[in-house]
Amino acid sequence: MAAPRADPPAAYRGRFAPSPSGPLHDGSLIAAMASYLDARAHGGQWLLRIEDIDTPRVVRGADDVIMRQLQALGMRWDEPPVWQSRRLALYEAAFEQLRARAAVYGCACTRRMLSGGPYAGTCRNGLPPGRAARAWRFRVPDGIERFTDRWQGPQSQDVAREVGDFILRRADGLWAYQFVVVVDDGLQAITDVVRGADLLDSTARQRVLARRLGFEPPRTLHVPLILDEQGRKLSKQNHAPALDLARPVRTLLRAWRRLGFDTLDVDSADAFWERAVPLWGERYARLAITRPPGQLARGD
Ligand SMILES: [Zn+2]
Repeated sequence: MAAPRADPPAAYRGRFAPSPSGPLHDGSLIAAMASYLDARAHGGQWLLRIEDIDTPRVVRGADDVIMRQLQALGMRWDEPPVWQSRRLALYEAAFEQLRARAAVYGCACTRRMLSGGPYAGTCRNGLPPGRAARAWRFRVPDGIERFTDRWQGPQSQDVAREVGDFILRRADGLWAYQFVVVVDDGLQAITDVVRGADLLDSTARQRVLARRLGFEPPRTLHVPLILDEQGRKLSKQNHAPALDLARPVRTLLRAWRRLGFDTLDVDSADAFWERAVPLWGERYARLAITRPPGQLARGD
């Protein structure tokens, strides 16, 4: 007889990870909606992570506003939300793991010395004499990273050549988005990331980093971005209007149609989700979940 074991993790764990730099708008709702629909259509769990690590951009109270918006639209998370700003010890530990394996190195380059293209590897084999590390970079292994995005199709990127050794810890001491998102997805055993297509280009590097940390990279589905009249991404920075919560059904249906579905005749948020989840499932949840779920991390 085998010893009793804890329940295995759910076969599907998704998340929505807004940065609290302002309220959700029509653009961010698309990503939230798609990730919620995908989790529910798979009978999975949906987590909320507040990405408040980029402290200069964080707006006090925006996290509460976002949570109230999601609730007003009938979206419920399955575990207590996490705040990245309270997880600094976890990032430090993951970073030390990489450092112990010489997978990171200090970089003394100033912004003026960097071309803006892929990092040239100036500090890869040691700092120039008399210079101190300002930032820390991930030593990207050679090779082409290939994966299939569930919306965007087959992707490939030569991360070492097209991106170069990217920054994990910035010169201002803050952790880079690319690092913490990988650590969090790994530690939270996220199986599926559903988010906006502006992050498609970051996915290959995140996969490479995830494996170096001992995590199985999550599957991804990148939904198209909503553009404004000028062809810019709808965002807080270019003053997208906040969501209309006085008319939640209308707000939900607008996002739903932008995801490419026909409108629905519903009179409440709950009724919307009841109808929308199976329709999403017909279109996007037919993939078989074949790989073992959960985290492959060593240690904890
Ligand atoms: Zn450098």
